[in-house]
Amino acid sequence: MKVTVIGYWGAYPEANEATSCFLIEEGQTKVLLDCGSGAVAQLQNKIELKELDGVILSHYHHDHMADLGVLTYSRIVDISLEKTDRPLQIFAHNHDMKAFDSLGSATYTSVVAYNESTPLIIGSLIVSFQKTAHPITCYAMKIESQLTDKVLVYTADTAFDEALIPFAERADLLIAETSFYADQDGSQFGHMTSEEVAQLATASQAKSVLLSHLPHFGFHHQLKSEVQRGYGKQVTLASTGAIFHL
Ligand code: ZN
Repeated sequence: MKVTVIGYWGAYPEANEATSCFLIEEGQTKVLLDCGSGAVAQLQNKIELKELDGVILSHYHHDHMADLGVLTYSRIVDISLEKTDRPLQIFAHNHDMKAFDSLGSATYTSVVAYNESTPLIIGSLIVSFQKTAHPITCYAMKIESQLTDKVLVYTADTAFDEALIPFAERADLLIAETSFYADQDGSQFGHMTSEEVAQLATASQAKSVLLSHLPHFGFHHQLKSEVQRGYGKQVTLASTGAIFHL
């Protein structure tokens, strides 16, 4: 399984970058976890848009789905030009029916509701979900490879939640939202501090951690050292285009 950081900012993208978006590839399968602002431009540095199978959305905040509309337009163009005949698959929760119903139209997209009880099978990947602690309904994702048994866990947006510990167990890579510094309190906004990320990573025995959903203040290397202080294994700050092979 190959994981590429397409975007990692919280809230809005800094110049020439993108908010939350990760490209997951295994075999011929290519899917995005979230599709934040700026993601479509960045994604084309890695693959052609027509190659993408689909997008799995964690929730309906703009910094996780702002580029979904234009990504859908790209599929309309590519199907019209006969570059592909495959609709773009969009996987999302349907707790917010208005948001869910506006995700796409038939012919060019295939919109599928996911839930906690039935994992999705996408190519050789098994994707399961767990609700997080966030102001609107949001799901963390676990992506397991049937080929290699490697496990990727993406917290999406969440305050620290003990229920995530068993969900994140066995993760070869834990993509953890790290929105605040150790001396702050992110819980009222539904986000984690660096200290809480260290707690989650340690308790779940994650093998490595990638810090994402990074803030627009302070110094990110401080976030990294704060996580490392409580968690002895490998910690990486997300950066545009960074690739991880699991
Ligand atoms: Zn959010």
